[in-house]
Amino acid sequence: MLDFDRPNLCYGCGACAAACLQNRITLTPQKGCNNGFSLPQFDDAIPCTGCGACDNACPRLHPPAVDRDAKSPWLAVQLRDAAETKESTSGGAFYAIARSVLARGGMVCGCVWDETLTARHILTDKEADVKRMRQTRYVRSELSADCLRRLRDALDEGTPVLFCSVPCQVAAVQRLTGNPEQLLTVALTCHGAPEPAFWERYRRELADRMRAPMTEAVFRSKTPYGWGRSRTRYAFANGKRLDSDCYIGDPYVIAFSENLLQRGSCFDCRFKGEQHTADYLIGDAWGVDEAVLRRFPGDGVSFLVRNTQKGARHFAEFADALTCAEISADRVRRANPYLCKSISPPASRAAFLADCEKMPLTCAIKRHIPNGRYRVKRLLRATGLWNLFFAVKQKIK
Ligand SMILES: Cc1cc2nc3c(=O)[nH]c(=O)nc-3n(C[C@H](O)[C@H](O)[C@H](O)COP(=O)(O)OP(=O)(O)OC[C@H]3O[C@@H](n4cnc5c(N)ncnc54)[C@H](O)[C@@H]3O)c2cc1C
Ligand code: SF4
Ligand code: SF4
Ligand code: SF4
Repeated sequence: MLDFDRPNLCYGCGACAAACLQNRITLTPQKGCNNGFSLPQFDDAIPCTGCGACDNACPRLHPPAVDRDAKSPWLAVQLRDAAETKESTSGGAFYAIARSVLARGGMVCGCVWDETLTARHILTDKEADVKRMRQTRYVRSELSADCLRRLRDALDEGTPVLFCSVPCQVAAVQRLTGNPEQLLTVALTCHGAPEPAFWERYRRELADRMRAPMTEAVFRSKTPYGWGRSRTRYAFANGKRLDSDCYIGDPYVIAFSENLLQRGSCFDCRFKGEQHTADYLIGDAWGVDEAVLRRFPGDGVSFLVRNTQKGARHFAEFADALTCAEISADRVRRANPYLCKSISPPASRAAFLADCEKMPLTCAIKRHIPNGRYRVKRLLRATGLWNLFFAVKQKIK
């Protein structure tokens, strides 16, 4: 029963907890050197029937098999509606697919901020909720047993459901539900999702510093500089705001990029590149030829790949909402290094986790990130030399 190196390989997806009809399993943040990483905990006071449902649902032990559509081209896509594109992280691929499922009388399961700014998956048939799902949150979204069971019940009743998330959570849903025809899945290209305990600490530390609770967090705001130069923004109940250059200004996002905040499974992810099992893979269309990008007038472009026969069958239902152009898969792979391979743990990871036990998270991050490198990057941005630097870097690659 779930017999594997759980502290290092478990995705924390919660499929085992949802599968256990005895409710013996809960995902529990670990104490000490595991630093808040959630792992399945078994309640020994409740008898185990030995049914094996937890094992069978686990995507680490049993990655789902899917009917791949190897011939599908890679596409750059953008919503035809420029205002809606602006609200999305990249080109709005998710929104186009989600609306097509709602139009069929279906439901959508995706990640929103709840009232405490915890990232959590919800299941809905309302467009207003789907709008709330837009925007990337750089934290592992909570996928509760209740949400997973409601999703499975909806499928059992024949309702079409779209599930969108990071690839390991997609695989969890496919294992738990048996991946029936009425389930459509979208995997996000995933660098590696930070553990919620880190985000919770960071949010509290910023709230203390600003002397008011955080009320809003946007990691990839396109205002005012656009998709290619996103800003990270936090708002607080007293009207104060923090605003920094995404990836080079905010300590939390830098720590995410430096792989300090991810759990062990992200260093050995089984769903990278062509291994993911969703019907579609979407991501930021970094690296796409300038000549192709000029055909997209709105702010932000996604790439989209149909991965399965099911995805190919459904594509016509939302294609009209998107401007599409065929692109080179190799260029996207080159610009998106962790599309095809797992991130590596930084050399100082153990020391970082130990420091997190002793000091505020922000201090531990500042101690373990290469501050000099980020200072240079900020200088390049401030002096306008950034684009030149980036073009040279791409040429060298
Ligand atoms: C942790 C993480 C790491 C990522 N790393 C990369 C990367 O390295 N390269 C790359 O090209 N793209 C990456 N992405 C994906 C990228 O940021 C965009 O989500 C993607 O381009 C889709 O954009 P969109 O405009 O179609 O969707 P949007 O309109 O932005 O919709 C986003 C969808 O993602 C879901 N979502 C948001 N946050 C989470 C979350 N924390 N967990 C699960 N689902 C979530 C929402 O529910 C919604 O369904 C990452 C996303 C996440 C969450
Ligand atoms: S074997 Fe069955 S009863 Fe026992 S923990 Fe797993 S799912 Fe629950
Ligand atoms: S089902 Fe998910 S949470 Fe449970 S053991 Fe497997 S990977 Fe971990
Ligand atoms: S890198 Fe892999 S294991 Fe980590 S969150 Fe993404 S899909 Fe899951």
